[in-house]
Amino acid sequence: MGSRHRPQTLEIRVNPPRPLFSDWPRLARRLRTTRSRVLLTDFDGTLVRIRRRPGDVRLSMEIRRLLLAIRDEGSVVGVVSGRGLEDLVSLVALPGIWYAGSHGYRLRDPRGRMISFATLAERRRIQRAIGWLRPRLGHITGVKLEVKHASVAVHYRTASPLAARRAEEAIGRVLEREPGLRLLCGKKVWELLPGDTIDKGTAVRRLLDEIHAPADRFVVYLGDDTTDESVFRKLRDGVTIVVGRRGNTAARYYLHSLADVREFLLRWLKITREAAGKGSRQLKSRHRRG
Ligand SMILES: [Mg+2]
Repeated sequence: MGSRHRPQTLEIRVNPPRPLFSDWPRLARRLRTTRSRVLLTDFDGTLVRIRRRPGDVRLSMEIRRLLLAIRDEGSVVGVVSGRGLEDLVSLVALPGIWYAGSHGYRLRDPRGRMISFATLAERRRIQRAIGWLRPRLGHITGVKLEVKHASVAVHYRTASPLAARRAEEAIGRVLEREPGLRLLCGKKVWELLPGDTIDKGTAVRRLLDEIHAPADRFVVYLGDDTTDESVFRKLRDGVTIVVGRRGNTAARYYLHSLADVREFLLRWLKITREAAGKGSRQLKSRHRRG
């Protein structure tokens, strides 16, 4: 039976991602010539280093300035995260950009308008799960419950193996009680979402609909975690980049580290500035001729 299935397994195998900068001349040409540039990125592990306590992360001044300059040069910029939207907005704290929080359940446009995708039934389902988990996990050392708008995260980065196992058991039980819940496994965090129709991939698609990006748009998405795979799978016409790992991903490219992400942002800014300069020089010469 195994041998009969083997060819099929080979067929569906995903191609491993390529190093992004190895394909840079081609990507740079597309970035230079497109009418619409969209830069979307995950936050934790992509723009900032992951900390033992999620509240301790800080976006560096340099990355902040780069993202603002990229926005000022006319690119659409968006940060897409599993964090609650308010938490994300306060940590990134950049005006005039898009935010997607709670794994895509909430979207905030550059003017601050909020869109929520959680139904009342879904929010009630999460409230019941929180009510059940809190007395069972709230007192366990190293296990932290984070309540969000439409989900609940159980962090265990600082938990002992025994404490983590107890938390895992509780999550297994709550999934039996509320079969509509969806479990996401991130880096030292389990997260319960209220259903299975919304993820980062649907949030990105919705964002692209909202901005009416033309067909020749150049869309990039950067992310480091398993929860970013929904975007890597769904954004077929985009440049998808996984940060820090190379195996088991649907992303087309990879970058080694956060330092490479910074280098990528620098290159993006340089090219868009050059493209704008070229455009204005052309305008000036046309003006002189006229
Ligand atoms: Mg991440």
